[in-house]
Amino acid sequence: MSATPYSSGKPEVVIIGRPNVGKSTLFNRLVGKKLALVDDQPGVTRDRRMGDADIAGLHFTVVDTAGWEDVDAHTLPGRMRAQTEASLEGADAALFVVDARAGLTPLDEEIGRYLREQSVPVVVVANKAEGSAGEHGVLESYALGLGDPVPLSAEHGEGIADLFGGLFPIIGNKADLYEEAQEIEAAYAAAMDEEDRPSGPLKLAIVGRPNAGKSTLINRLLGEDRLLTGPEAGITRDSIAVDWKWTDPKTGDVRDIRLIDTAGMRKKRNVTEKLEKLSVADARRAVDFAEVVVLLLDATQGLEHQDLKIASLVLEEGRALMIAINKWDVAGQTGHEDPSKLFNGIRGALDDGLAQVRGLPLIAVSAKTGKGLDQMLGAAFELRDSWSKRVSTAALNRWFDDALEANPPPAPGGKRIKLRYITQAGTRPPRFVIFGSRLDALPKSYERYLVNGIRAKLGFDAVPVRVTLKSPK
Ligand code: GDP
Ligand code: GDP
Repeated sequence: MSATPYSSGKPEVVIIGRPNVGKSTLFNRLVGKKLALVDDQPGVTRDRRMGDADIAGLHFTVVDTAGWEDVDAHTLPGRMRAQTEASLEGADAALFVVDARAGLTPLDEEIGRYLREQSVPVVVVANKAEGSAGEHGVLESYALGLGDPVPLSAEHGEGIADLFGGLFPIIGNKADLYEEAQEIEAAYAAAMDEEDRPSGPLKLAIVGRPNAGKSTLINRLLGEDRLLTGPEAGITRDSIAVDWKWTDPKTGDVRDIRLIDTAGMRKKRNVTEKLEKLSVADARRAVDFAEVVVLLLDATQGLEHQDLKIASLVLEEGRALMIAINKWDVAGQTGHEDPSKLFNGIRGALDDGLAQVRGLPLIAVSAKTGKGLDQMLGAAFELRDSWSKRVSTAALNRWFDDALEANPPPAPGGKRIKLRYITQAGTRPPRFVIFGSRLDALPKSYERYLVNGIRAKLGFDAVPVRVTLKSPK
């Protein structure tokens, strides 16, 4: 039953560490210009400075302890233990600050042992980590056995967003705005079982207009080792799944690929529908099964409206899309366009025609000669990785803060729209939720600015990205 103004149910975070590691500097950095109050609770024999901290909208009370000051380097006297116990009582988290430049000292290790026995969650802060002089100390502090250290520089204000990443999982649920974000993250973590990780066979589909060379390409890829697994669970009879192994010539790795042969299946049926329509129907089926879809173009035909239609469909379904320009062996031959002009023309038309993504992987191939096919498959695996990628909350919010600072959200009617926090709610395709207030007034152009930033700065260039805006209830 504390009488401080900080008993408002906000989470309490205690800063602990030996003298001179930068605790006060960190305290001041977290509290900012706000008044740091001195706690004069009876029974507490030393100063406890308390203040309001706010990292990217994560509000908590921060407490700077001074209990370790008069300790010699090798012992942890009972008196100090008692003081620390007092400061940890009721704390929701402890920031254990070490000096990354000095490396771990025996006292750090002693404090670390002590903290490992306590029930309060600890985030190790490797302070003074600016530049390269702190790298060794950061690595050393893993040895404390208290989880991943957060490298930061309290003095220079670097790494505070990473601290957010360390604290959020511990105290995020105590700050009501974040309850929802936490739920989303928990739901996500639960859904992220083995099957969801991009470790199984790459599910690949090849789509394109008639005569682009799909059948030729598939036969070329499978070669002699063609292994038909036939219809199986999750695969409808409209398609054939072919499992095979591909050796990446760059790394020597043998990787599993499950090719979805929708076109091959279709050719077996007695088809009366128009072929043009069918390529769209094939694409529709392909996106049901595939993680990565290769849209095959014909170098002798270029990019046509129908191709963009198929590409849009794939992206709308949230699949990873890449483009292969086939028949490259005849590009530039008499009667055909100059290859580099053709390539750049297609690149430009894709960027203009598909606003959802920038810089789709575009690869020149020849199903006939085999040119470019290893490159195509390598790119497909990479694309699946970014489509499945999860960015840490810390990295996301660091980018988010920068983006907001560089270009603050507008203030329609004089009232500023508050954007507070971003979390990744899912992958495959990557999905993000941005929390804030007055979000219904946020212009589409600003939303696009953020989506483009996620793509360009966080490594999601070529995959469809979904963003949802949420205001607290
Ligand atoms: P405390 O005794 O743990 O509260 O440490 P202080 O906050 O008083 O800092 C001790 C010394 O370390 C001071 O000279 C600070 O200027 C310095 N210091 C604090 N943070 C940093 C940092 O991030 N980088 C560097 N290079 N020095 C720092
Ligand atoms: P699909 O309708 O997309 O399955 O196309 P096909 O695989 O049946 O190929 C259509 C035509 O293009 C056939 O005559 C193929 O021989 C030809 N073709 C396919 N790939 C290439 C290639 O890389 N180079 C050249 N020159 N012709 C190709």
